[in-house]
Amino acid sequence: MMSENVAHSELDAIVDKATCQIEAAEAEAELEALRVAYLGKKGPITALLKSIGSLPADERPAAGKKITSSRNLLEDKIKRKRVTLQQIESARRLEAQRIDVTLPGRRYFTGGPHPLARTLARMQEIFLSIGFDIAVGPEIEDDYHNFEALNIPANHPARAMQDTFYFPDGRLLRTHTSPVQIRYMEKHKPPIRVVAPGRVYRCDSDITHTPMFHQLEGLVIDETTTFADLKGVLEYFVAEFFEEPLNLRFRPSYFPFTEPSAEVDISCVFCHGDGCNVCKRTGWLEVLGCGMVHPALYKDVGIDSERFIGYAFGLGVERFTMLRYGVNDLRLFFRNDLDMLSQFR
Ligand SMILES: [Zn+2]
Repeated sequence: MMSENVAHSELDAIVDKATCQIEAAEAEAELEALRVAYLGKKGPITALLKSIGSLPADERPAAGKKITSSRNLLEDKIKRKRVTLQQIESARRLEAQRIDVTLPGRRYFTGGPHPLARTLARMQEIFLSIGFDIAVGPEIEDDYHNFEALNIPANHPARAMQDTFYFPDGRLLRTHTSPVQIRYMEKHKPPIRVVAPGRVYRCDSDITHTPMFHQLEGLVIDETTTFADLKGVLEYFVAEFFEEPLNLRFRPSYFPFTEPSAEVDISCVFCHGDGCNVCKRTGWLEVLGCGMVHPALYKDVGIDSERFIGYAFGLGVERFTMLRYGVNDLRLFFRNDLDMLSQFR
């Protein structure tokens, strides 16, 4: 009877102490250590179970039952505590990982159209809005379309004006967008109303010239086309492009493919005629060339020059871009300088 009481009180003390420690455990690892300490092979519960053999035979069943139920009780407490700790840990993790939707987003780098692409798109948009179509042609041209058909024969002095990149087989990189006029007339009958934007190439490189640059060519052919129509279209285009009405000045000039020909100045977009460094104190900026289509161009493409009359114009896209955005060095467009380009985003 005595030994049973001793075993009981010892067992109760172990269960009480273990229960306290289990309740106080703050981590699963700590809980596992307690399980091993109390219920493991070297733990006090196991020791008590082993000691049953030394008890009198009639006391063994009751003592065994008592120890086993205590062991089960502790196992159950540990199991439940583990679930609680796991829930706490899960809640803590969720809290730590919570997304703060009120945080401002991170800025990321986005590209944008190159200023020249932007200008080309803008120019085409203006001409499309007044009934022009867009025409394109190859950048590798033959001598015929680039020169001959444009009334620039082999010995013509105008060829000297254009230093040309030739291929060994005699083909060349087009020196202007004017060959697109010929190619378009070969395939289309009047009325014709097109602009041809694109890259052109010349052996030239300094502050105002790059070996590759962009032109936009215009061609209109109909039965009653006049120089006044040409002036009207150019005035409209310039006012739309610079978003302000500007004065235009037509100066007689010479191009092999137009007759009469004119160079066109606009009143300076920076000083509006007062005179500044950009316009060299003249108040005027030279921006494009134009004229009535030379009848010689109609012959080979089968357009009746007695019935149809047309005008053409050509402008430098870089020049217009520089004027619109105040860029003073042509070469900046081709340096891939992100600081410069990102200003146009
Ligand atoms: Zn000026």
